[in-house]
Formats: sequence, C-alpha cells, structure tokens
Amino acid sequence: MKKKITARRDVLAELREDFSLCGKCKLCQAVMAQQCDDPRFWRNCPSGSRFRYEAYYASGKMEIARCLELAEIEPDEKMKHVLYTCMLCGSCEDRCYPIKQLHPLWVIELLREQAVEDGWAPLDWFSEVYENLEKTGNPYGVPPEKRAQWSEGMGLKNALEEKVEYLLFTGDDYPSFPNLVPKLQSVARILKLAGVDFGILGKEETSSGSALLLIGDRDRFEEFAEKNIEKFAAAGVSKLITPDPHAYAVLKEEYTKAYDMKVYHLSEIASSLISKGKLKPSKSVNIKAVYHDPCRLGRRHGVFDEPRNVLKSIPGLELLEFPRSKKNSLCCGGGGSVFFIEPEYARWVTKERIFEAEYIGAQAIITACPICGRMFADAIEAMKKDIAVYNLAMVLENSL
Ligand code: SF4
Ligand code: SF4
Repeated sequence: MKKKITARRDVLAELREDFSLCGKCKLCQAVMAQQCDDPRFWRNCPSGSRFRYEAYYASGKMEIARCLELAEIEPDEKMKHVLYTCMLCGSCEDRCYPIKQLHPLWVIELLREQAVEDGWAPLDWFSEVYENLEKTGNPYGVPPEKRAQWSEGMGLKNALEEKVEYLLFTGDDYPSFPNLVPKLQSVARILKLAGVDFGILGKEETSSGSALLLIGDRDRFEEFAEKNIEKFAAAGVSKLITPDPHAYAVLKEEYTKAYDMKVYHLSEIASSLISKGKLKPSKSVNIKAVYHDPCRLGRRHGVFDEPRNVLKSIPGLELLEFPRSKKNSLCCGGGGSVFFIEPEYARWVTKERIFEAEYIGAQAIITACPICGRMFADAIEAMKKDIAVYNLAMVLENSL
C-alpha cells in the first residue's frame, strides 16, 4: 500500500493545551523589540495590524479554536474572514513559543484544515484557484506545455529520461509569469556553470499543492503531491533543489513523509558552491540593497544565513538589514494564499515593507522567493516608486 502523507487535520484537538492556555498576553502582536530599535516597526502581525480587532491576532484565533471545540460558538462569515486573512507568516509562533511554548501558527493551520473538513471553509472564495488547478494542474491556470517553455533551448536534462544527481523543481510561480521566467533561467545557468548534475521534469512537473495546503485542503493537496512523488520515484530522485520557498516548505515538511529525499533551497546550494570555490562572484554589482527574508524560507526553516552569504560574496553590493529582519521579518503580503481573495489588503502589507526599505535608504530589495518578488514589483510599479526588486539568482548571475 502506498504510504500517505500524514493528515494533520485529525490532530487539532491535540493542540487543546495550546489554545486553552493562551493567556491573551499579546506578545505575538509585535516583534522581538530587543532586536528592533525603532518602535515604528514593532507591529508585526499583518492581519491584526490591518483589521485591528483582537480576533485578527493569533490570540483571537486561539480563542476561536477553544470556543469551537467547546461548541460555544458556530462558524459564521466573520470567522471565515478572520481565519482566511491570516498570512500564515508565523511571526506569532516565533514570539509565543520561546516564552509560552504554545503553537499559534499550528493552531491556525489546523483550524483551516478543520474548517475544510467540517465544510465551513469558504472554498468558493478560491474558486478560480480550484478551476485552474482542475484544468491545468497550476493555480494560475498556465497549462503544462506553456509552463515548460522556460527551459526551451537551454539544453537541460530531462530527469525522467536520464539519471541525474539533483532534480530542479521549479514550483508554481516561476514558470507561470513571464517576468519571473528569466529568474528561473538564471537559476539553471548558475547550476550549469558550477557543474551541478541536474535535470528537470518539464511538463511532467505539476503543482506542488502548496496553495491548497495553505487553504487547508489536505485531501486535494495530497492528490497533487502524489502525482509529483510518482515522477520522483520514476526518476529515482534522491536530492532536489528548488528556488521557490513555498515549494521548498511543502516538499521538505510533507513530501518527505512519503518519499525519502533531501530538499535544498537554491540559496543553500549556491552558498555551498561559493564556499567550495565552484562559483566565483567577481563582477561588481554596485548597489545598496536589503535582503527580504521570505517567511517560508527564513522564519519557517531557519534559512537566514545562506542567502546573505551569497550576497556578501558579491563585490560592490552593500547589504543592508531591515529594522524587522530575520525572525522579526515582516511578511511581503503574499503569505497564506490571501492575495487570491483580498488583494487590496495584501498590497497594504507589501507597501508597508516597501516603506521600510525606503526608510533605511535601500536602492533595491532582493528576495529569494517568486511570490515576494511579484508582490514587490507589482506594488512598486503601481506606486511609481524609485526602488528596484531583484531576485537572488539574477544578482548572483550578474556577478559571475
Ligand atoms: S498566542 Fe501566545 S503570545 Fe499570543 S496572546 Fe496567546 S499566549 Fe500570548
Ligand atoms: S501567522 Fe502572521 S498574520 Fe497570522 S496571526 Fe500569526 S502573525 Fe498574524
């Protein structure tokens, strides 16, 4: 029998201690102030900061979980909005766990899974995502042939046709948006230049299912995971590289429960290749830039140093830090699949991060996530701001 990826929706009740013991101390509303000098940037919960009511902070959602379990309240429209405007950024978890040993983020994620399971999750808000996935296997509706076009003429190996050391898994976003395709091509060229033996699945790669898991739809997520895992097994994949932190998180946290492999983010591989001398950044990239930590890569998986190591190795690049940096980092506005349903609120969060970059005098924001890159680029264009957005891989390639 095929090994299934675990169904975490069954265990919300096991977090009873967490949602019952939340003391509403509100630590989770802010950053670690000791590591952030300027009070202007102390707020760090996007949904709470935007909608202001207690329910929109983690403490409110802990209370919702408690009351639902005790059947003190029934799900209603407001509760759906509270639950689905959370960006799942994890800032609350990082404040709460070290001091209170509670897991607000796990509770919120499992609440979403419970909502889907119990039939009150507002899946109709995501009907376009579902239709797109149904028709094309991609949340943005880009069909497989088109999604595979990014690699045409690059001479990349097909991992299903020849054995390779690493699989390069693109994730949903990079091959789906024309302005992200050059970033993905940079990734492939960097790996080739360093002599990494890798291949791709081309049009056989389907959605990682990340968007579905963020919505809380574990059953549908597993259908997509299963399709990809079948391809991994057919290709004999044991090591995988992805430049997409959203794919990285589900591959590392979920897929590896059903399929044995090592998962790396591009920044981890690039940092290691630079330290081994296989990549030698030498051309100057003269810019004063700040690195934005994607929530799924930084806070969630502790990949803080590797992207910074890559950037520090580039001559001419002056690397700044946001006041809210590393574990204190603010979401780009692209978390939790919220941009599908509340684009104006998502943009509000993005603007706050852009303001923070301008505040420290950055000429550019560099990120290692396609969603962050897209959120920033679209907002900067709409606001007609004079600040650039770069992708880590492209900056590195420019220096090689
Ligand atoms: S979730 Fe944790 S940090 Fe937030 S109010 Fe509850 S106990 Fe305090
Ligand atoms: S995950 Fe982020 S947006 Fe959601 S409650 Fe926690 S801090 Fe707020």
